[in-house]
Amino acid sequence: MTQVFNFSAGPAMISKPVLEKAQSELLNWLGQGTSVMEVSHRGKLFMEMITECDKDLRQLFNVPDNYKILFLQGGARGQFAAVPMNLIGAKGKALYLNSGHWSGMAAKEARNFCELDEISIVDKDENGVISVNRTDFSDIAEQYDYVHYCTNETITGVQIKEIPKVGNAVLVADMSSDIMSKPVDISKFGLIYAGAQKNLGPAGITLVIVREDLIGHACQATPSIWNYETQANSDSMINTPPTFAWYLCALVFKQMLAEGGLEIYAKRNEKKAALLYSYLEQSQFYRNYIAVANRSVMNVTFSTDNDELNAKFVAEAAEAGLQALKGHKVLGGMRASIYNAMPIEGVEALIAFMKKFEAENA
Ligand SMILES: *Cc1c(COP(=O)(O)O)cnc(C)c1O
Repeated sequence: MTQVFNFSAGPAMISKPVLEKAQSELLNWLGQGTSVMEVSHRGKLFMEMITECDKDLRQLFNVPDNYKILFLQGGARGQFAAVPMNLIGAKGKALYLNSGHWSGMAAKEARNFCELDEISIVDKDENGVISVNRTDFSDIAEQYDYVHYCTNETITGVQIKEIPKVGNAVLVADMSSDIMSKPVDISKFGLIYAGAQKNLGPAGITLVIVREDLIGHACQATPSIWNYETQANSDSMINTPPTFAWYLCALVFKQMLAEGGLEIYAKRNEKKAALLYSYLEQSQFYRNYIAVANRSVMNVTFSTDNDELNAKFVAEAAEAGLQALKGHKVLGGMRASIYNAMPIEGVEALIAFMKKFEAENA
């Protein structure tokens, strides 16, 4: 079999040492003679595993002591609803910053639960180049119970690299597609959430990191599985958690710590993205439509000027072992998702293929 590199946007690549560890333990977890999937989530060994997972994540992501870490279900979309249900309070209104598809979806869902104002923060210039035009909301933010934004728009590849200024307002971030790709000052946020299937592990589990003072104010109708208070008070186990997904995330955190933590990953991620963008910059054949300041380090979008060539590119790349390069259906073109687990060799192989394809088709 040819070496395969998987550029899927999500569920995405999981690093080989993690999968190998899971494989080695699959039939016999910690000497129990069963898999981790078949034991009680309330049992001693599973509880020890999640306690260590919490500790590892705190160390890795530098989570302050006054934040709770929850592992929930329902994906990032579940949080689109859970956030307003839990955080709408005295002011009765939230501010949503729209930088693309996912932040727009978050606002759309939140409208079912609260009043909100939505501001578009991206511009498209005459050449089709997208840029973020505003990150300072300190003049208006404090009229709202919280301000929501998406750090990395997975579909277009628009990343907001500086934390928006919101004065003393509560800042909420959907970090689904760039969480733990670099160190972040968590104290600037009231709440961070992310579906696991891009950068943390498999689908089926959702990470929520929430400041303690924001817990306990959910509106009456909030389902207990999405109430941060009930979940925080029951170790994220108000119902049976997705135990195998949780276990895999715990293995990912251990692996990341063993490799030296987020600074190492940040450097590696910057290097991978720089390689790809500098190739795109000099090419007359491929184009990326994101302003330099907002180019995503995780999702690199590009296309030729011809849909048929794009389809040919995706098909031939897959044959060469470079999988899942088709862009999202709302955008077309190509997208290379180069999350934490993607080694630099994957990016190098992609660039070599792009050169060859350009030479053959330009
Ligand atoms: C993938 C993604 C989502 C949707 O996640 P689900 O877990 O499928 O609900 C939301 N926001 C962003 C930024 C994403 O990348």
